[in-house]
Formats: sequence, C-alpha cells, structure tokens
Amino acid sequence: MREYLPDVDLEIVKKAYDFAAAALRHRRLCSGEPYIQHPLATAIILAKMQLDPEAIAAGLLHDVPEDTVVELEEVEKEFGPRIARLVDGVTKLSKIRWATPDEQARREKEQQAENLRKMFLAMAEDVRVVLIKLADRLHNMRTLWGLERSKQIRIAEQTMEIYAPLANRLGIWWIKSELEDLAFEALDPEKYQQLSDMIAERQGGREKYLSRVIKALKRALSQAGIKAEISGRSKHVYSIYEKMQRKHRTLDEIYDVVAVRIIVDQLRDCYAALGVIHTLWHPIPGEFDDYIAMPKESMYQSLHTAVLALDARPLEIQIRTKEMHEVAEYGIAAHWRYKEGGGRDVDFDAKITWLRHLLEWRDSVADAQEFVDSLKSDVFRDQVYVFTPGGDVIDLPSGATPIDFAYRIHTDVGHQCVGAKVNDRLVSLDHQLHTGEVVKIITSRTKKGPSRDWLNPNFNYIRTANAREKVRQWFRHQERDENVAQGKESLEKELRRLGLDNVGYEQVAGYFHKYKSVDDLLAAIGYGAVTTQQIATRLVEAHTDEGAVDQRVLELPESTPGQSDASGITVMGVGDLLVNLAGCCKPVPGDDIIGYVTRGRGVTVHRVDCRNVNWDGERERLVRVDWGGAKKQGYPVSVRIDAWDRVGLLRDVTALVAEEGLNITSAQSISKSDRTVTLLITIEVGSLSELSRILARIEGIRDVLEVRRDLGRKAAS
Ligand code: MN
Repeated sequence: MREYLPDVDLEIVKKAYDFAAAALRHRRLCSGEPYIQHPLATAIILAKMQLDPEAIAAGLLHDVPEDTVVELEEVEKEFGPRIARLVDGVTKLSKIRWATPDEQARREKEQQAENLRKMFLAMAEDVRVVLIKLADRLHNMRTLWGLERSKQIRIAEQTMEIYAPLANRLGIWWIKSELEDLAFEALDPEKYQQLSDMIAERQGGREKYLSRVIKALKRALSQAGIKAEISGRSKHVYSIYEKMQRKHRTLDEIYDVVAVRIIVDQLRDCYAALGVIHTLWHPIPGEFDDYIAMPKESMYQSLHTAVLALDARPLEIQIRTKEMHEVAEYGIAAHWRYKEGGGRDVDFDAKITWLRHLLEWRDSVADAQEFVDSLKSDVFRDQVYVFTPGGDVIDLPSGATPIDFAYRIHTDVGHQCVGAKVNDRLVSLDHQLHTGEVVKIITSRTKKGPSRDWLNPNFNYIRTANAREKVRQWFRHQERDENVAQGKESLEKELRRLGLDNVGYEQVAGYFHKYKSVDDLLAAIGYGAVTTQQIATRLVEAHTDEGAVDQRVLELPESTPGQSDASGITVMGVGDLLVNLAGCCKPVPGDDIIGYVTRGRGVTVHRVDCRNVNWDGERERLVRVDWGGAKKQGYPVSVRIDAWDRVGLLRDVTALVAEEGLNITSAQSISKSDRTVTLLITIEVGSLSELSRILARIEGIRDVLEVRRDLGRKAAS
C-alpha cells in the first residue's frame, strides 16, 4: 500500500490485521497454514487494485464474524459503521443444520441463493463489497486443491456462473480471466492441461514472431512522430478454449492467441496510430471496433483492429491511452482507487445502468433463488439496445420482448399494452427485440390490465424480472377471490393434464411451506407467484425424494435398495434385474410407480394407479421400485389432443414438439363428424416438468381445445 499511498495513515489496516489474527488464531486453513493467511492474501489482492485503507481493512476482517465467535457489533465498535457494513456485506448468513441429508442439500441451495442476494444488495449500496468478495473468491480458487472434489466442483461452477461474469461486467479483466482459468482447470482438468500444454509448445515461435512485429510497429510509429509503448500479450487459456468452441476451430486456426497492445499519450494519437497501422498492414474486414467513441458498459475504451501482419499472419491490435488502460486493467476498481485529497466520483453508481436496474426491482422479489436467477438472466446476459419512437435508447437483456420494453417505459404503458410495432411493422408480443430496432407500443385505454398468459413461463412473453414483478403486482392487487378461483382453475387443469387427478390440493400445498393455507397457495397461483411448472417440478422432486406415497405401496414389505439398471430405476430388494416400463400406462419420472415381477422378462414398472396392476390377486409379485437418481432421456408418454379439425394442425403440433427438442414416436388422428379431431401422439419426455411445458405449449396452438396426458383409461366423455 505504501507504493500508492506514500503519505496516508495506515493505522486502521494494521489494527485490522492484529484484530483478525487474534480472532482467527485457533483456526487453520486446509493447507495447514494459519488461517490469517487467507484474509491477508485477500487484502493483498485488494491492494493490487489499489483500493483505499477502509476496503483493505474490511478485506482483512471479512471472515472474522463468520468463522469465529466475534460478532459484527464488535467489529463495528472497533472499526466504525462503514467498515462493519463492508464486512457484513461479504459475510454469509449463519448456517442452519437440517435434520435429513436431503433437506440439508435442498436448503443449502436456498441458502447459497440467500447469501448471493445479501451480497448484491450490499453491493448496490457500496460497490467495494463486491470487490472484496471477488478478492476473497480469487484466493479461494487459487487454493481450491485443498478441498474435497465435490466441493471443488460446486465452487468452480458458481465461479463460472456468477463471479467471472460479475468481474467481467465490472470490467476487472485480470480477475475475470484468472477466475475463468482456475474454474476451467477445476471443472475439466484434462482439457485444461492439454490446451495449456499446446499453448506452451507454441510459445517459442510466438515470441520470436511478436518481437519482429513489435520492432516493425515501433519503427513505423516513430517515423510518424507518435510516442507509444508496445507490448505483446497472450490470451488466457479459457478465452482461447471458448473461442475454439464458438467458432469450431482448432488451436492453430485461432489467430488472436497473441495480440499487441499499443499505449499512447493522447486521444488523437490513438487514431493516428490506427492510420499508420492500416497503411503498414492490410486490415481484416469486419474486425475493427471503436470502443473510444462507443465505450463498453464497464467504461472500457480502446480501438480494436485486426490486420494481416508480417508473413501475412493475422494479428489483433488494441490501441488506447494510459487513462483508458487503467480503466481496462482495473475496471470499476479504477474509480475506487484511493486518491489523496480527491473524493471519489459521486455520479459513478448512476453510470452503471445494470446496477441501477438492480436497485429498481430488488425490493419486490421475494424469493432469493428467483433473485439470483433473474440476475443471471438480466444482468449477466448480453444486452440489446433499442430505440423509442422519440429516439431514446433503452437497454434490455437479450431476448427481451415488446412487453419488457413497455414496462421499462412506464408501468401503465405495460398494463395497457395491446400490441407493438417494430420498425413500423406489427409484431407479436413475444417478438424478440434486436439492437437498433425502433419500438412503438400500442396501448388501449379500455384495457383493464395485463394478461395472465404473460406470466406463463411456457410462453416467452417476458424476459425481465422487472416486468414480471409488475404484472404480478397487478394481479396481486386484484380481488383475492378472483385470484383463488383463477388459481384453482389453473391447478386443476395442470393436474388433469399431467394425469395426476389423484393428487389433492392439500398435498400440493404441503410442498409450498411458504403458503399457510391451500387458499393462499391458490391465490399465489392466481396472481402468478407460483407457476404451474413450479408445481410440476415440486411434484417430481417430492415423489423422487420420498419414494411412492401410495398407501398400498407402503404396505408392501420393506427391503433394501437393489441395483439400478440403465433406465435409472431402482428395484428394491432385487439386484440386476431387467427393468421394462409398462406400455399401458407409460410412467415418467415423478409418477408413483410399482414393479411387477414377470415370468422371465424381469420387472415391469407401472404407474401405481394403472388398471393393469392387480393389487389383490397377485400381491406377492409386486415390488417397490424407485426412480433413483439417474434420469434417462426420453420416456414415451401418450398425449391426447382435442381440436377443431383443420389443414396443417398435425404439422403445427409436430413442429412445436421438434422445436422443444423432443421426439414423437407415434401419431394417430381420428376425425369426428362434429368437425373436431382427436390426435393421439406419443412423445418422449425426460420428466413431468418437461411434459408440463410441452402440453401447455401445444394448448397454445390455434384451434386446440384440450390437451392432456392419456393414461389409457377410458375418456370421461
Ligand atoms: Mn474468505
């Protein structure tokens, strides 16, 4: 810190170190070193970002409240509220032990989500929280090898999903690339090793080539009177891997494994240098980007170009000033770097649009997992930029629709939206917006409010959490009775569709602890807080967790689990038996099932309520079976579709199923005299929730009257 803060009092940092070392003195890292080494390494990473003494002190203290008996209040008493708030933002919520391992596993996921939400909310108040968290995670990733394998994978996955994209959005490039490489190595050690060996092999030739290129550039630039520092750099392993995957190329076909960076004194030198380079070597069309005129969201600025350099080899070149270089290296942290005598940029938070969006809807999302999911989809996804008819730019996550756009303009515009025009052409409301499009929303004053279909996750009407929440709010404020009635209708329909009419409302409510009564749950379904797909997923989880719940199954003798075969189904008490899924009722994971020991053909698995299971006559041949952990793709399910008969109906259905990536294995069409038709098709699905989704989508096809799973029972009508 002395290097960048020669005259600043560092007493607080020293004090934080002593305090942390004392509090953590009994603990050791899994490497055997004293625990203080971890917060110390975290603080050193923060110092590399040249952060202020408060942030460094908080980095030293970050594990104190979580891992020791020292409470946050004590930290606050010793170090003041600002440092305490930083520490609190990074500290995980205290862990609760749950009774069963299953419950534990489920709660751990919830808890992870809660922790992430806590961090993001704290970050919205003070960006330094996330810088400390990134430094903490970086050191954890560097020392990952000390943990057991399953933990390594979990942490590495979370790093890939959350922390590397986060570092990217914040523009802290060196942390992003190191996190990615470490996570890549942990998740796929073989591929990582293979690729980095290959890169190392080519090192010698590459460096020789680079020094020739740099020499040629230096000469040309100095002849033009431009002062410049030129350096070569290698891309990090994961970015090369990503590019190979994306472009389906081999390592030798990726030309920007090496790149050259030119740092000049002044802005106008950037463009002058570009001119010199483009005269020296041929630019490659389509590879020029001016991030000076159009900075990236992280405020990154540079000129990017690619040219055919010496030996006609492609070469990527970045040109920027020293100030731009600082932002490129430190990203958001550059604005937090300690400046003696000068405060920080107060408008700064307002400049980061996505952080502002985070603040916008953070209070309204109740469920932590959903908060994290929305973050992944809204914040870490690519953005599209569209225009209002008045020429204002609106940024939205890619995949956003006119409805998202309407709600971004104003809540009432969203509620009253009846249609949209994109570039003067009418589009459907699930149209995916693209950068550069001009969007005009058509509203109607007579429209009461949004449509419930907008909340159906099976249709892609809404992409942003912000719009979804506003639609929900609208329905939440509707009459409760209306919501309960609507919820009841949806639930009934969903259960009937899935062939689960034997499942009661009480039982469903039992899977959603958050709602105190059945009516509360029905109301929540009514205003869209619980989707029918969530219900299908919970039903599957519950059934695979607890095994069959049917009383008749429980009365069968208990026995130990046997082996599961390729289908993933475990037959209790029987090892290594051939397992067949019954053709009559075609069970899918999530259904209650029972095994029937056949003569010579192994065990046939039926749904518990299949009429072909003879509970009274052949009880001794029935065995308990379990879906087990493994999930096989493609269980055949019979589906019955009633519709008005028309040309192209079957084609529409099959196209939709194909679009979902599912297979149809048989299709039969029965025309009736009343101009209706019944389609009986067999679709291969992976689970009940997949089935739920496809059935809902088929029902959206024009002229379709009803869709449901066909259990081989006689139709009611
Ligand atoms: Mn830590």
